[in-house]
Amino acid sequence: MKRRQFLSATAAGAAGWLAAQPRLSQEAHPAAEPAPADASRVADAPTAPGAPPEITWSRKVPVRYQADVAVIGGGIAGVCAAAAAARSGAQVILVERFAVTGGMLTAGGVSNFCDETQVRQPLGEVFSEIVADLDAWQALGHGKSSVFHYETMAVILQELLLRRGVKLLLHTRFVDARVAQGGRITECIVCGASGPEALRAAQFIDCSGESVLARAAGFQTQEDWYAGRWRLPMSLMYFVRHVQNDEVEPSRPEGWFQPIANKAGLPMTSVWPDGPGGNAIKIKIPMFDATDTESLTAAEIQGRRRMMQVLDYHQRVENKPWRLDHCSPIIGIREGARIVGPRLDQRRHDGPSRRNRRRAGGQPGLRPARPGSRGRPPSGRRAWGGSGGVTGSSD
Ligand SMILES: Cc1cc2nc3c(=O)[nH]c(=O)nc-3n(C[C@H](O)[C@H](O)[C@H](O)COP(=O)(O)OP(=O)(O)OC[C@H]3O[C@@H](n4cnc5c(N)ncnc54)[C@H](O)[C@@H]3O)c2cc1C
Repeated sequence: MKRRQFLSATAAGAAGWLAAQPRLSQEAHPAAEPAPADASRVADAPTAPGAPPEITWSRKVPVRYQADVAVIGGGIAGVCAAAAAARSGAQVILVERFAVTGGMLTAGGVSNFCDETQVRQPLGEVFSEIVADLDAWQALGHGKSSVFHYETMAVILQELLLRRGVKLLLHTRFVDARVAQGGRITECIVCGASGPEALRAAQFIDCSGESVLARAAGFQTQEDWYAGRWRLPMSLMYFVRHVQNDEVEPSRPEGWFQPIANKAGLPMTSVWPDGPGGNAIKIKIPMFDATDTESLTAAEIQGRRRMMQVLDYHQRVENKPWRLDHCSPIIGIREGARIVGPRLDQRRHDGPSRRNRRRAGGQPGLRPARPGSRGRPPSGRRAWGGSGGVTGSSD
């Protein structure tokens, strides 16, 4: 497909259909308003009684980047979208807030496919190349055919993108979107090491996993409390190194966190192979909200506490000769907000139903937070979680 053909095809595709979706009110999205001609300014604005104070903030930023296609989010979806667009001849920029691409697969430590490498053939042009590269680096099949080495994966993904001419902006966070009359996204504001800058593109693709672009641009998104349901839980991945039996001693100092006495205190934990001499441990941290800053912070805190408890359990109760090697830099987020559109299948939701609620209740120190339980109504993005699940608990 030629570059021009690609652009008109995608206009009706992923980013294009965004323009056709129901939009929220403009008032809620000040970025859509034209920027004032003067320099930076900060102004107080009246707010509704009881609501936190609000300010209006705007500033001029350079349009430093221009592209045919801008992909927001460099997880596996963003990598595949960017690589495919670049192959068709488009100039592509990919914006990723972390130091590496791969998203959950790398930064989130997931390091495991759902057997796609075995079952579904053919795999798709980009994915096939990734799998071939993993094979070539002997980074696939670490104890199980679907397990891969995630640090190697990060290198493979970056090299794939660079080979195809994608411009990578790492450590760069999408901040806001500028929307023209008629609802078309014209620029994004991104913020990396050089500070806030604008990125102009003909097409934008939201691969953030959290619908950040769609939300900022005012398109309708769905968070799970919307339908009164619980979302799929986050999980923290950590990795242990096998040592000699006489080298292992429970590493939890007395008084730190509540010890887990037996297997009943270990729900939602799974142990994965991770090559010779190691294992990956997945601990689920349910009932937090990945689209809320405080709730996500609380989930990270809870995850690391839980990791030390579970590690201690494996060492002390199960006598595993395991040392903590490392923990993935971020908690694994399965879902936050989804874009409402023709592809959103509202029926398919096997999220934390009653079973997961029950299991979560079994985690020491983990109290399911309920909507408004901290005095905040479940409106907007404040709903499940808050910091209620962890504050003040020492386990
Ligand atoms: C713990 C866990 C276990 C899983 N297990 C499996 C499994 O065994 N097998 C399997 O196939 N799938 C598994 N999944 C699901 C799989 O990880 C995801 O479906 C897949 O990785 C999603 O890819 P994605 O690119 O859509 O999103 P993500 O991987 O979430 O990528 C989104 C990217 O967007 C970036 N981003 C977000 N916001 C911004 C912003 N404002 N600015 C710039 N960048 C931004 C993020 O940093 C990230 O890199 C698991 C998920 C989790 C969390």
